[in-house]
Amino acid sequence: MEEFDVAVIGGGPAGTSAAYHSAKLGLKTALFEEHQTIGEPVHCGECLSSMALTRVGLDLPAHTIAAEVDGVAVVFPNGSRKLVREKGYVLHKHKFEQFIAALAADSGATVKLDCMVRDLKRNNDSWTLETKQGQFSSKIVIDASGPNALSSRRLGLNKPFSLINGLQYELEDVPQEGYLDFYLWPRLAPHGYLWMIPKEGGNANVGLVTTEPAKTKPYLDQFVKELGWEAKKRVRIFGGSIPCSGPVEKTYSDGLMLIGDAAGFTSPLFEGGTQLSLVSGRMASDVAKEALAANDTSARKLSKYEKLWQAEFPVYEKIIGGKDALYNLTDSELNEMAEILPDDISHINPLAKLGIGAKVLFGKRHLWHKGFAGIMASFGYSRAKYYGW
Ligand SMILES: Cc1cc2nc3c(=O)[nH]c(=O)nc-3n(C[C@H](O)[C@H](O)[C@H](O)COP(=O)(O)OP(=O)(O)OC[C@H]3O[C@@H](n4cnc5c(N)ncnc54)[C@H](O)[C@@H]3O)c2cc1C
Repeated sequence: MEEFDVAVIGGGPAGTSAAYHSAKLGLKTALFEEHQTIGEPVHCGECLSSMALTRVGLDLPAHTIAAEVDGVAVVFPNGSRKLVREKGYVLHKHKFEQFIAALAADSGATVKLDCMVRDLKRNNDSWTLETKQGQFSSKIVIDASGPNALSSRRLGLNKPFSLINGLQYELEDVPQEGYLDFYLWPRLAPHGYLWMIPKEGGNANVGLVTTEPAKTKPYLDQFVKELGWEAKKRVRIFGGSIPCSGPVEKTYSDGLMLIGDAAGFTSPLFEGGTQLSLVSGRMASDVAKEALAANDTSARKLSKYEKLWQAEFPVYEKIIGGKDALYNLTDSELNEMAEILPDDISHINPLAKLGIGAKVLFGKRHLWHKGFAGIMASFGYSRAKYYGW
């Protein structure tokens, strides 16, 4: 049976990042991906901030970039746009993940495609992985298997998380202004939002997340209709599920760490998860290196991983309160909020914040009672700086 220091389950952004960083640190690393090709099928809006790349030390090659963007435009029901300026990219996500997997392979990792991990068992100080291509052993397992979270399921480590559904069309010839347009239109995305994510040549990913799975497609079709894009050519339909109940209780155990979606790491308001995946992959690799050097892969030793992500990632509960308050606003209340906010909400200085607070307290006190302050805090924590995208 071939033996590894680190076995990574799943070749998404989390797993490819973990495999790359582990191999770069000199660990004998294997990456197991169930599909025949890394990154396919794509199940993502494909946007990623420049800050995320800086954090994991990646330089994007041109072929992975579908567009460069200047930030996020939050679009209110009355059509008014509030800009959050922070640079980033729309990726060809499959090419991006293939690029990181190639870096991992170049750094010495074994990449096993068409190789689903079916089960994992711990014996003494190592793991045996049952895969489609036979058995492998590893001192440490990094679970990057996404919303399916293999280790949580097979080992009963964590409760299943709540999921929110996303669906999108890639359309041709969509008008765009160099921003990721995030539409807060509760009428067409209850407890979620809709988006237009620009890509090269006028193409765009147009989609939504909502907690009403049966209505996802009708809502998306209505959105496309209302924006006058019904006749646009539809290049593809794609989507998937996103964990939306926050980090799982146990992100580590003896010889095991969970990263990315498998750990429930998604940003609560706009459900971005790629940056958190890439960074948690890097953190788990660093901890694996230290544990293997000390010949101690116990849960106690790997608990450092939890300390690392807890110190860096924003506190989920802080954002979720504001998110719930936001999704409780009606269309007209959202429009009132838009009237109060400046057009550029990237950096609201303390004086402007006071002015906004006064307008709410003295003119629109009902918004205050509906959680206006928490909503603004949630927006703040959804920025790239706080791992929002
Ligand atoms: C519609 C939609 C739009 C989104 N838009 C954005 C966005 O624009 N920006 C953003 O930052 N985030 C976005 N997200 C979230 C983002 O896609 C995820 O957070 C991110 O992909 C998580 O990466 P991951 O590597 O943890 O999991 P995944 O990307 O799910 O990768 C897991 C991999 O593991 C493989 N796998 C699973 N089980 C096994 C097994 N047993 N054996 C071997 N392989 C296995 C899977 O095939 C998959 O390749 C979006 C999600 C959806 C659904």
